[in-house]
Amino acid sequence: MPADKNFHMTPGEFRRYGKAMVDWIADYHERIESFPVMSPVKPGEIRASLPKAVPQTGEPFEGMMKDVDRLLLPGITHWQSPNFFAFFPSNNSFPSVLGEMLSAGLAVQGMMWATSPACTELETHVLDWLVEMLALPESFSSSSTGGGVIQDTASSASLCALLAARERATNFATNERGCDGRLVAYTSSQAHSSIEKAAKIAGIGRQNLRSIGVDDRFAMRPDLLAAQIKQDISAGHVPCFVCASVGTTSSNAIDPVREIGRICREHGIWLHVDAAMSGTAAICPEFRWVHDGLELADSYAFNPHKWMFTNFDCDCFYVADRKALIQTLSILPEYLRNQATESGAVIDYRDWHIQLGRRFRSLKLWFVIRHYGVEGLRHHIRRHIELAQQFASWVREDDRFELAAPAPLNLVCFRHRGGDEINQALMDRLNQSGDLYLTHTRLNDRIALRLCVGQTYTELRHVEHAWKRIREEASILGGTKKGN
Ligand code: PLP
Repeated sequence: MPADKNFHMTPGEFRRYGKAMVDWIADYHERIESFPVMSPVKPGEIRASLPKAVPQTGEPFEGMMKDVDRLLLPGITHWQSPNFFAFFPSNNSFPSVLGEMLSAGLAVQGMMWATSPACTELETHVLDWLVEMLALPESFSSSSTGGGVIQDTASSASLCALLAARERATNFATNERGCDGRLVAYTSSQAHSSIEKAAKIAGIGRQNLRSIGVDDRFAMRPDLLAAQIKQDISAGHVPCFVCASVGTTSSNAIDPVREIGRICREHGIWLHVDAAMSGTAAICPEFRWVHDGLELADSYAFNPHKWMFTNFDCDCFYVADRKALIQTLSILPEYLRNQATESGAVIDYRDWHIQLGRRFRSLKLWFVIRHYGVEGLRHHIRRHIELAQQFASWVREDDRFELAAPAPLNLVCFRHRGGDEINQALMDRLNQSGDLYLTHTRLNDRIALRLCVGQTYTELRHVEHAWKRIREEASILGGTKKGN
């Protein structure tokens, strides 16, 4: 029962429960390997277990935490388990959790510089650090023509890029009069579905998003892009936007950004580069080739909330020309007018994304970068890539399996040679066992299993165990026993 007669939790109680919460989180991480990675619950099971009645009187904190253990934990898929190899990771780290906590505690709403100068200035500072850390083009830095902003997700970043591209292509008239149906956009057949969503939201229309074919490495073919652009121009369309992927979700294919960028420059088309997970690799100088040609891009995004030990949500979105973005999204109702904005000397990030309000998200990024340093981040990224490459070599050595796509970084797409049915059964059995969690994709119209190494605490023993379990299940399903 709340002790305070105003119903509030007192600072003393918060201190006590806060410490208990930190203990709970630390304990959770210590016992995380004891849980089935993928939640085994059936649809509706969690909801059915929750108390039906709305609490009319306040309840003790201890009871809430008991229910977290009893009712919610069974319905948690453990993304932070070192045996989580599914999708792309959404990893975190303790410094990031502490940054989140501080952000929640300060609870500022940083929509404008004036509503909390530190929220804006730390964000600008950390995003400039990342330009240096990833060796991004200088034009993306705030001291140049561009700059970066934290978006919630890569989906929002792509949408903002598409909106700015749309406005630039129509001399900012679409904002006023709406789309006339002539604008067209391009991405590869392997690009993330968020690009299609952005085309729908931005009024470009799904039919005006051209799906460009890929080569045998699943990367966009620039010759097909160039041909499609020419065809569209002669048909009276207005090409406005190309999205290249650095690390497609399906197979981690890296589009040839330099060649795509040249084509975009030739036609004055906005080039956005979506490097949601794989951009992080560029922290290591030996993997900076993934960004070859990035200086030809108008915008770029990568997600520290995927592979840089920073809690969801944290996408870093950069533009080379901030004016185009701001002019696209800026809106200034009377109640937001203030001297700082009018002076032109400050950044108001509300003009850099869709929503008005914004959390102090740079804190968690700042904590992560300061805790690990570039050295620590490089160590872990290298280790993940090394482990994935090790796994790929085991796949190559086992006759029952094959690689389904090149594995340039930390994602390995592979399949059992026995066909779709056996691969589906293999994945289902592994996931249902709770020992690990893998997901699948379809490449060349055949199922491929995806093993992505990117959870913060994944070590060699976890990847070895995953491979052991895969081979065991393959043997049960009737494959011949071979390899290591
Ligand atoms: N782009 C790529 C290449 C992705 O892999 C993903 C998600 O995995 C996204 C975009 C969407 O990410 P978000 O959840 O940040 O919108």
